[in-house]
Amino acid sequence: MSGVVSLLRDLVQIPSPSREEGPIVKYLTDAFETLGWKAVREGKNLYTELGDEGPLLLLNSHTDTVPVGEGWSHNPLAAHIVDRKIYGRGSNDAKGCLAAMMYGAFAAFAKNPPKGRVLLAATCEEEISGQGLEQLLKILPKPDAAVVGEPTGLQPAVAQKGLLLLEVIAKGRSAHAAWGGGVNAVSAAARDILSLSNVSFDKSHPALGVPSLEVTQAHGGERHNVIPDRCKMVVDIRTTPTYTPEEIIDLVSKKVEGDVEVRSKRLVSVDTDPDHPIVQAAVAANPGAKPFGSPTVSDWVFLRDIPTVKVGPGDSHRSHTPDEYVTVSELEEGAAFYERLIREYFERA
Ligand SMILES: [Zn+2]
Repeated sequence: MSGVVSLLRDLVQIPSPSREEGPIVKYLTDAFETLGWKAVREGKNLYTELGDEGPLLLLNSHTDTVPVGEGWSHNPLAAHIVDRKIYGRGSNDAKGCLAAMMYGAFAAFAKNPPKGRVLLAATCEEEISGQGLEQLLKILPKPDAAVVGEPTGLQPAVAQKGLLLLEVIAKGRSAHAAWGGGVNAVSAAARDILSLSNVSFDKSHPALGVPSLEVTQAHGGERHNVIPDRCKMVVDIRTTPTYTPEEIIDLVSKKVEGDVEVRSKRLVSVDTDPDHPIVQAAVAANPGAKPFGSPTVSDWVFLRDIPTVKVGPGDSHRSHTPDEYVTVSELEEGAAFYERLIREYFERA
């Protein structure tokens, strides 16, 4: 079994749902030191710096996973290998990326080191947008470019949609249903929902297309015999860099009768110029790769002023599912890919 495979198996066998990363960080601290790296720990985040001088490249992935959940036919914490697939929670998202990054970075600096510095950071609480990369960046030197390790089949994502969550509160006036009168907030909400289904976005992003907007929750009324005076809707909007959150909030406000409140606008959309050296390096490291726009949110949101690609071994569709896996060849190719990416970047930076 290759080193990267046994590292990943160890990582999968240490459960690390968000907020419970302590044991895996302890394991990784030892693993960094075994590789000859100085391991620096900040909270539940861990990093090391490789190389002495030159541009600074951040390689980041996360140690936490979503909970194991139901429906597995393989033991989710055993990392059994069946038909060259390594099964387990986090194998694909994103412990495989982390293990491949570690091996890729180690190989890059073991002999013929590139003229640059790599900051390799294993961060916590990505799945809950918590105290991970966003906190660590406050104390790290600012990188010239970054790579976020997430399963993309080694295709570089050059843009990522953001998440804007709005609440629309339809208001009415209650009355006894038998007597009538009053103003029905659920009926008002229905008009708002229909109106929101007609929102169209005309400014398209080259990699992401247009934002999407869905009313995903609606709750109004408490009793069958009372005309409801309030109905709350939740609107899930996947944003692109072609609109500011404020523009979209304004657009929604003009479409609805209800009051619009912002539940979250922290997870912004991000993109990187496809001509930037970090994108070119990612394509050179995987010839034939096609830069694409990713609909899923990651810690890239906290790197918005740093040219970044999101790329790693595995398949995003397997993330958060039962029988999550990464294949042995994806993992080994991932490690070789990250080594090439590091070298290609410093030749261009
Ligand atoms: Zn992930």
